[in-house]
Amino acid sequence: MAMTEAGTIWLDGALVPWHEAQVHVLTHGLHYGTGVLEGTRVFETADGPAVFRLADHLRRLERSARMLRLPLPYGVDELAAATLELVRANGHRSCYLRHFAFLGYGSMGLDMRSSPTVTAIAGWEWAEQPADRPLRLKTSSWRRNDPNSVPPAAKATGPYLNSALARREATDAGYDEALLLAADGSVSECSAENVFAVRDGVLRTPPASAGALEGITQDTVLALARKLGVAVRVESLLRSDLYAADEVFVCGTAAGVVPVGSLDDREIPSAPGDLTKRLADLYRAAVHGEVPAFRRWLTPVGGS
Ligand code: PMP
Repeated sequence: MAMTEAGTIWLDGALVPWHEAQVHVLTHGLHYGTGVLEGTRVFETADGPAVFRLADHLRRLERSARMLRLPLPYGVDELAAATLELVRANGHRSCYLRHFAFLGYGSMGLDMRSSPTVTAIAGWEWAEQPADRPLRLKTSSWRRNDPNSVPPAAKATGPYLNSALARREATDAGYDEALLLAADGSVSECSAENVFAVRDGVLRTPPASAGALEGITQDTVLALARKLGVAVRVESLLRSDLYAADEVFVCGTAAGVVPVGSLDDREIPSAPGDLTKRLADLYRAAVHGEVPAFRRWLTPVGGS
């Protein structure tokens, strides 16, 4: 993730200069992964910059914190207002936003009750980087975090070690991204994207019970597909369902909707497939405010 520094970061209620947004090395969340995060994006629209599905991202942050029993000192409305203030202060027309809250400096040891929560929002420029070719995926030797070990529906910092191990293994082996399976061998998701398969015109994606994050882009794609009249199913998939699919794609806030060209060196013959292309186009139009039915997902940044 290339990062272009911005002017300020919102930290516990104040806008502070980028390089002054720092924490102590004995921050609890650094040692034990006791934090929650969100990745959200601001897109250019005809009416100025707007945040895509801001309230949904902040509600997921709140749910994640609840699952970890991490006290979140700010509500969704306060964080939404802070987000808009930050984007305006940085003058971003489009950017990636990282909301996060973690246990800070207080005590060392696993007890979560003696460290205060630190809450921050950072934003940085984000150039659209359309994939120049369909992705090559490899099934990871790492299983997705088991729902009874850490809750996958919580977008928490610690569990990302699972994603980082899987991503590293895949890229070291020359692939673009890892596909993670759940403990029972069913398909879960990629290291930072949800996965979809299309066969005979039906669009399928694994549920949260397979250890997948409840992706906001996944939800967006399901809504877009329904608008196109495509049959959708959220259900358990085998890796052979992907091998045998007509089309496979992955999606996430950072990635957008990206076609998959092969899994474990088995080519997906049509990549990028027709439905993938239609959904990717509709997604791009929706985030830029070009689909009236989905403008409700955009929160204008406001200001000049
Ligand atoms: N799965 C994982 C593990 C992720 O990190 C992400 C990115 N947040 C996604 C799926 C996609 O989620 P979203 O569409 O909400 O960005």
